[in-house]
Amino acid sequence: GSSHTFIGPNVMWIQPSTLTELVELKARYPSAKLVAGNTEIGVETKFKNMNYPVLISTTNVPELQSVSVSEDGVTIGGAVTLSQFNDELKKVILSFPEHKTRVISSIVEMLQWFAGHQIRNVASVSGNIMTASPISDLNPLFLAAEATVCVQSQERGRRLVKIDKSFFCGYRKTAVASDEVLLSVIIPFTRKNEYFAGYKQANRKEDDISLVTAGMKVAVSKVNTINKVILAFGGMGVTTLLANTTMESIVGDEWTDPLVAKVSELLAGDLPLSPGAPGGFVEFRQALALSFFFKFFVTVRQQIL
Ligand code: FAD
Repeated sequence: GSSHTFIGPNVMWIQPSTLTELVELKARYPSAKLVAGNTEIGVETKFKNMNYPVLISTTNVPELQSVSVSEDGVTIGGAVTLSQFNDELKKVILSFPEHKTRVISSIVEMLQWFAGHQIRNVASVSGNIMTASPISDLNPLFLAAEATVCVQSQERGRRLVKIDKSFFCGYRKTAVASDEVLLSVIIPFTRKNEYFAGYKQANRKEDDISLVTAGMKVAVSKVNTINKVILAFGGMGVTTLLANTTMESIVGDEWTDPLVAKVSELLAGDLPLSPGAPGGFVEFRQALALSFFFKFFVTVRQQIL
């Protein structure tokens, strides 16, 4: 392989074409920014006075462009654009039984509300995860789906990192180290007894950033009691977060009407927003989070009947 390098007055742009080179470059320039669609970085440099003297493009590296499907789920390369991601997932929906593709269908539905065509045609999956915006539309889904990322650094090689409660570890921070490249995201299929949904509410219906987003998954037993539940939210704090206490407290409960009242009380404790919280609309956002759970409750109840 060979890297192309363009040197301008303010920025050096390096475009490697192999993974080895990409990982080496990230080690050689520890403060360099990896860039895929540039839809976050472009906003930061143009409007937020950020300055990144070395940019390393990921888009020519084949490993980051690959998509593979197995019996267990879908693996999406880090530089795959959201439009390609959408196309690939639609194919998966057609070739697997409905119960396996409940996460996949929710992602496709969510992508419809994610920015506009121009952004989706260049923005990458890894760019959304790594930006770790508290109002990301995809991260609550990845968290609820128990997705995993595969990362690689020159020093420590390859490792898998689960997108779990410790992954989004601070404002725009993830558990991926600064010398690591995100290679791919592994999205597991759902099982017959697992139900999933994603929700987004924005001020405007189309092409708008969200006020609140959510990803929810529940695994139920034969008698419709909760084996495991994951309730992930965006727009309710400084990171994409989990309603941990609620999730733990309802294991073993039945998926019946009394659950709604119980969750209503618990969720308020898991999702506190102070009156002056960034983003405003505090009461509205709290009501949205609760109503997303109510929607999920009704949807799942209809599916398990
Ligand atoms: P880039 O800007 O290229 O990179 C973003 C960050 O990810 C950088 O820190 C970069 O270093 C890092 N990164 C990229 N690739 C890798 C890698 N392989 N390994 C490690 N780090 C990596 N977001 C939403 O969630 N919902 C929306 O509705 C939405 N609408 C938008 C509308 C507009 C008009 C704009 C400008 C942005 C919008 N966004 C939205 C935000 C943005 O488009 C997404 O976060 C997008 O997924 C970023 O991807 P990118 O490839 O452009 O990232």
